[in-house]
Amino acid sequence: MNPFSTLGIRHDIVNAITELGFENPTPIQEQSIPVLLSGSNDFVGLAQTGTGKTAAFGLPLLELLDFEENYPQALILCPTRELCLQITSDIKNYAKNMKDVQVVAVYGGANISDQLRQIKRGVQIVVATPGRMLDIINRKAINFGQVQFVVLDEADEMLNMGFQEDIDSILSTTPEDKKTWLFSATMPNEVRRIAKKYMTDPFELTMGTKNTGNVNIEHEYYIVKARDKYSAFKRIVDFNPEIFGIVFCRTKIETQEIAESLMKDGYNADALHGDLSQQQRDKVMKRYRERSLQLLIATDVAARGIDVNDVTHVINYSLPDEIENYTHRSGRTGRAGKTGISIAIINSKELGKIRHIERSIGKQFTKAEIPTGFDVCEKQLFAMIHKVHNVEVNEEQIEQYIPRIMDEFKDLDKEAIIKRFASLEFNRFLEYYSKAPDLNVSSDDRGYERTERGDRAERGDRSFKSSTSPGYTRLFMNLGSVDDFTRGDMLGFICNNTKISGKSVGKIDLKGVFTFFEVEESAVNQVIEGFKSVDFQGRDVRIELAGDREGGSSERGGSYRGSGGGGGYRGGGSGGGYRGGSGVGRREGGGGGGFRDFSGKRREDRGGSSSSGGGRREGGSGERRRRI
Ligand code: AMP
Repeated sequence: MNPFSTLGIRHDIVNAITELGFENPTPIQEQSIPVLLSGSNDFVGLAQTGTGKTAAFGLPLLELLDFEENYPQALILCPTRELCLQITSDIKNYAKNMKDVQVVAVYGGANISDQLRQIKRGVQIVVATPGRMLDIINRKAINFGQVQFVVLDEADEMLNMGFQEDIDSILSTTPEDKKTWLFSATMPNEVRRIAKKYMTDPFELTMGTKNTGNVNIEHEYYIVKARDKYSAFKRIVDFNPEIFGIVFCRTKIETQEIAESLMKDGYNADALHGDLSQQQRDKVMKRYRERSLQLLIATDVAARGIDVNDVTHVINYSLPDEIENYTHRSGRTGRAGKTGISIAIINSKELGKIRHIERSIGKQFTKAEIPTGFDVCEKQLFAMIHKVHNVEVNEEQIEQYIPRIMDEFKDLDKEAIIKRFASLEFNRFLEYYSKAPDLNVSSDDRGYERTERGDRAERGDRSFKSSTSPGYTRLFMNLGSVDDFTRGDMLGFICNNTKISGKSVGKIDLKGVFTFFEVEESAVNQVIEGFKSVDFQGRDVRIELAGDREGGSSERGGSYRGSGGGGGYRGGGSGGGYRGGSGVGRREGGGGGGFRDFSGKRREDRGGSSSSGGGRREGGSGERRRRI
């Protein structure tokens, strides 16, 4: 008998989840489903995301509700829009062989009329974020008078985000005798308090020890000097060529800066934070899910509810202020039975914090060493060799070129050819890493001695930058394909705003949230002047010299503000990496196409403004209460 059937789940649901690949229940499903199926208990489940808790409460709900009736019988509250959509889609998938199951997702940042219409049509399960739910209740558009089950999912997150009052108000509209099922990754006192407030004698289930990180996750820390942090971080990434990671920063500005620096250095990375519009966030998430992005740089708030399997690494670029957030961050990897690594890059003063986290999660960190340049070269070389070995050959297409290729190689033996292919990539990173210093902070701090040349190599010597066409200067602009630009649009945008001729514009490299473009040297000043007071959908357009970024670490400098005070080109910026300009980074955006109206808007000259590199907020869900 199917193990889910043994737990009491009926066959049409079992068939649907078998198609989803659920062969055996996860531990939380095994232990909670029989309890919840009785329908007679309040319930507290202490479990991480990724443990299968959606099915743990979703399957029993499908068994317990009466789908011949069309009124709200279950309400699931969760902290974010992403999680809300995920739960809704999961439940619909489990119910795919059942008749008349109506599930509606209610969340902020989307058209309310569509949601009201769906509710009006009749619904048994409402999955909602608290802010929008309360809005709909206040409009008297829903009646929870006959709700039998309320699920509070990721309760700790909802409280973190300041939803306590909204939850109180929403629950006051539900019957006294409903059952409440609460799931939380951690159990701070605030969650204890709501458990006490809303539940009578709940059945408590703890997966692992309290506040414990997932057993499939290994925790590592690296100690570096603050000024080496970015270089050390890139080394760790370079040492893991197949990384598919989430990098956590503490602030929106830091998030944006790290993402921009990585993109400039040729990495497949992008930022996710609250200053992006909902549409931009959706695009970034779509690219991450599709694995067009290798690294997602995020704030804690923006990353809440992210449900992506197979994340290999979580990197704490900065440790969170609250220890509980470490558990949430690391829980983004090691999902669905996979293993994962959670890395913290710290300075020696932060060791105490690591010890504190260890006590809280009941697991020890391993102290790891930043790989040497040699280690990275070796790792990258063999990753590449492996790729060459496994590449799929399109026999039909390549066939026609083989005679010419053979002719070209006729004077070389097999070994010589292999060496040349290997050297093609290897030379570049060997050159980049040949002078790379040791970035580890050793106890006597000798590891920090370094040559100036080595320093410069890692921080982005211009020779590692992308080659610029002769007679042209390469510029950076903080708008890209996520802003719906194609290369043609970008050309139009540049010409319209600066009045330079299209002929003066060279290569345009459209990236996610920014673009590199070349202009003739004689046109550089006109471009910078032209964009001085232009904004695009409420965001300042920033122009920077792409090549002028030696030294400095994460200063916001480097942008040309063209302010009343005269401005000028500043150095700074993050510096390059061996990937810089190599073409490793994915090129995005199609070419051509007619010009759309991307003329931008002139903004008031802000004279002397020194606003940050971060994008500006353009709306959003209205659901978040506490922003980082
Ligand atoms: P959740 O904690 O509900 O977000 O689930 C994490 C991931 O595990 C999701 O991708 C689920 O589809 C998957 N999952 C949940 N239960 C099972 C199961 N019994 N077997 C295999 N995968 C599962």
